[in-house]
Amino acid sequence: MGTVRKNRPSRKRGDGDERPSPEQRPDKDPRVDWREQTFNAGDVGPVEQVSTPLDLITTLRMIMVDIDPQHLNPVLFDDGKGTFASRLYHQTVRHWLDRDPFWGRATVLNTGTGLHLQLHLDPVVEFAGPADRDLWGAVVRSVQNTLPSDPNAPGLTALTRPVGSVNSKTNRTVKLLRPGTPVTPDAVLEFVDKLRRRPFATIASILHGADRITPCPICKTDGSTLAALDRVGRCYARCGTVKLAQLFGTFMSDPATQGEE
Ligand SMILES: [Zn+2]
Repeated sequence: MGTVRKNRPSRKRGDGDERPSPEQRPDKDPRVDWREQTFNAGDVGPVEQVSTPLDLITTLRMIMVDIDPQHLNPVLFDDGKGTFASRLYHQTVRHWLDRDPFWGRATVLNTGTGLHLQLHLDPVVEFAGPADRDLWGAVVRSVQNTLPSDPNAPGLTALTRPVGSVNSKTNRTVKLLRPGTPVTPDAVLEFVDKLRRRPFATIASILHGADRITPCPICKTDGSTLAALDRVGRCYARCGTVKLAQLFGTFMSDPATQGEE
């Protein structure tokens, strides 16, 4: 790579992290592009050392959602100063979190390119076997799908970035934007049960803060209202029945206009 790295991270290691660094190279920052497991022991290190195939995952430590401004509608981060990720948090994402008691417990990192939202589990979930892992894989996916994010992002195998490490794409240090509080596994299952019963109403209340949204965010017709029912939305102006995918669509960027910061 040979690029000059500005914004070198502090040498302080993560809290409680007493593992030796795998490789100390005096000429290079040892924490460039390090990752942290959301599973098993929560190991921190170069991606090739900490990434793990699904069938070797036995413990879930946190549920992580990766929100990349590149995939989102630019109106969600068009205000204020700072990087796209910082603006996206302050202008939009913190309101989503503040509207829901479950998501309100999330820890948020600015990864240097986007946001990692982490719901830390206490206690961690240890899988009794493959069926248990499959169940929690579906639970993680369901929680991830409540916020506009990449639907192809990894679920149980997700890696996050440790605070203080450096993202080589931007040479920015990974920063903590919002400290969270852990959730219990039961609270996760209760949230997923609520989603199963009332998917549209639950997600509309997180993203819009209301069960009646004026004007309808799909057609934007003057005087229209989108009513968030349990499973679908209803717009009496133009749209008729509105599906969850249409609601999410208003938050996503047009693929043709996606660009780097
Ligand atoms: Zn409409």
